[in-house]
Amino acid sequence: MHFFEYVDGQLHAEGVPAAELVRRFGTPLYVYSAATLRRHFEAFDSAFAGLPHITCYSVKANSNLGLLKLLGQCGAGMDIVSGGELHRALTAGIPASRIVYSGVGKREAEIRQALEANILMFNVESMGELERLSSVASDMGKTARISLRINPDVDPKTHPYISTGMKKNKFGLDIEQSLAAYSRAMTLPGIEPVGIDCHIGSQLTTLEPFMEALDRIIRFYDRLKGMGLRIEYLDLGGGLGITYNEEEPPHPAEFGKALVGVLKDHPMTLILEPGRVIAGNSGILLTEVVYTKKTPSKDFVIVDAAMNDLVRPSLYGSFHAIKEVTPKGRPVLNVDVVGPICESGDFLAKDRDLPAVEQGELLAVFSAGAYGFTMSSNYNSRTRAAEVLVDGDKATLVRRRETYDDLIALEKDALNG
Ligand SMILES: *Cc1c(COP(=O)(O)O)cnc(C)c1O
Repeated sequence: MHFFEYVDGQLHAEGVPAAELVRRFGTPLYVYSAATLRRHFEAFDSAFAGLPHITCYSVKANSNLGLLKLLGQCGAGMDIVSGGELHRALTAGIPASRIVYSGVGKREAEIRQALEANILMFNVESMGELERLSSVASDMGKTARISLRINPDVDPKTHPYISTGMKKNKFGLDIEQSLAAYSRAMTLPGIEPVGIDCHIGSQLTTLEPFMEALDRIIRFYDRLKGMGLRIEYLDLGGGLGITYNEEEPPHPAEFGKALVGVLKDHPMTLILEPGRVIAGNSGILLTEVVYTKKTPSKDFVIVDAAMNDLVRPSLYGSFHAIKEVTPKGRPVLNVDVVGPICESGDFLAKDRDLPAVEQGELLAVFSAGAYGFTMSSNYNSRTRAAEVLVDGDKATLVRRRETYDDLIALEKDALNG
């Protein structure tokens, strides 16, 4: 149960009818369920209870302060990939001692900001970054705790845009480069190598790629030990998949059991960076049907949410279930569900069987809690959607809808030239 259920023929988010949320906050509207977020976090975190570990939620999946605060209260640390995400995590009250920083392009100002905050660890992705980190840290009279991000060259068998641990990807260093980088790290002032990191991709639906990567990392760990390095942290990244349609990803408990089996003889603190598996099925996107349109070749349902709100279908060809907020038992039509944006790539679903919905009624796009709002934009000068966090019978507007004033706020000087 995901706490998005039909009660008396009406879709509810926990105790609140979706239609009531729309009356209060309008469409398009992202709706998150607090109970689902807590349940997903606890299911994931408890899977690793057998090992010392920190579950660092991946902020980029959904960075709303309301979610970060809620997950922080559950005991989550955070995995960040920018200075902006660090700012969000700290603002939400996440202790710096539970924050790890990944990403291939950390700028000097961002490195400085993270050192000032005294985060747990940098996941370093290149020699250039290692050298820069050393010089910035020395300059500040600080020491940067680091892991090197290993690219173990395993195929996660996911969409090419979200596989990250293959030789051809921009992420991390291969095993031989990593060995040289650890040797270098041991000699650098301002650097303390404390961990090993990898993140092989997203939306993985089997455990094999994880276990293959882990096997390579453990063998690498033994080589590092031979060099006299004391590795305290093993960061296995995120990537566990979810059910959008008919995928059957392993339950976090299976993932945990498999890892505990391999790691019980290696005295390290495990770090995990789940994003999608926590937030994905904790959110829906509510949208109104603006028009229905029949052409000789196709039926279209034109809704008020678009690729600027939820880009996953356009970007990755992703499937999101779409259902009526108030089902009426009508016959099914094969339709494209499209938005108002001037791009043929602007669709939420293609060739989808959907009841014959009518102008003005509401649809819910499921599994929209991760990589939904965070990937949204203002394309076509569309104001970004509002976000609501529902907890039982209570709905909190955790981000108000953008206004036309917001849209042009940063361009005030443009007319004065
Ligand atoms: C995106 C990302 C994650 C989270 O991935 P999910 O598939 O959402 O779990 C974790 N770690 C790093 C370094 C990432 O870039």
